[in-house]
Amino acid sequence: MSATTTNTAVVEVQDLNKSFGDNHVLRGIDTTVREGEVVCVIGPSGSGKSTFLRCINLLEEPSSGSVRVGGEEVTDPDCDIDAIRRNMGMVFQQFNLFPHLSVLENCTIAQTTVLKRSKSEAQATARANLEKVGLSEKADAYPAQLSGGQQQRVAIARALSMDPQLMLFDEPTSALDPELVGDVLSVMRRLASEGMTMMVVTHEMAFARDVADRVIFMDGGVIVEEGSPERVIGDPQEERTRTFLQRVL
Ligand code: ADP
Ligand code: MG
Repeated sequence: MSATTTNTAVVEVQDLNKSFGDNHVLRGIDTTVREGEVVCVIGPSGSGKSTFLRCINLLEEPSSGSVRVGGEEVTDPDCDIDAIRRNMGMVFQQFNLFPHLSVLENCTIAQTTVLKRSKSEAQATARANLEKVGLSEKADAYPAQLSGGQQQRVAIARALSMDPQLMLFDEPTSALDPELVGDVLSVMRRLASEGMTMMVVTHEMAFARDVADRVIFMDGGVIVEEGSPERVIGDPQEERTRTFLQRVL
């Protein structure tokens, strides 16, 4: 547990199962993510990492089991999923910025339309977050004028501008040229040190080792092992984890 982790559960997952047709992708996932905790999810391609994150914000509907975010059951028909989603920022491998909007507008549009903030408040929040990701001077640029790493940092600033309680990252640096990865990871490190609750699917083992409070190794739709990075990456107990790490380290 890091200095910033509290006892409050932000995400509670119990016996989560997800099938696509005959493909039983998630097979009983149990975990709790606490406020301020940084959890890195690692594992081979196809092991269900993206599906796991997507079940948390209901981009995919769980087939069975329970997913609670901030104490609310996301699959409960009475639950206000839009309100829950507003509390979660998600950053994907692809940046998904609006190409016809400036950087500043990308960071204000959901604030004004969804949170009903005034334009001036939204712009102030957006500028503060662009500053945080080191892109103040790009506020008036358009996405196509930016490098992939800069676009991804805008995507992070955009998500942060909604003041989320939780940030989900799905391989945020996998689409980037190697020389652009570092800037994005430093922004994420800073967020982590400021106490943001984060779930990060990543192949960046150095990042996981340095920044994660806990590492989850997934394979075949189950959590094979989890624990501190020193334990899971430094001294894996399971053969499947060792095999995976030998391939990526
Ligand atoms: P990972 O992120 O670990 O690479 P995914 O969660 O993307 O794994 O995928 C796990 C399995 O679920 C794969 O077999 C994939 O083909 C399948 N899958 C993921 N999303 C869908 C979908 N929307 N429809 C059908 N199958 C899917
Ligand atoms: Mg994936």
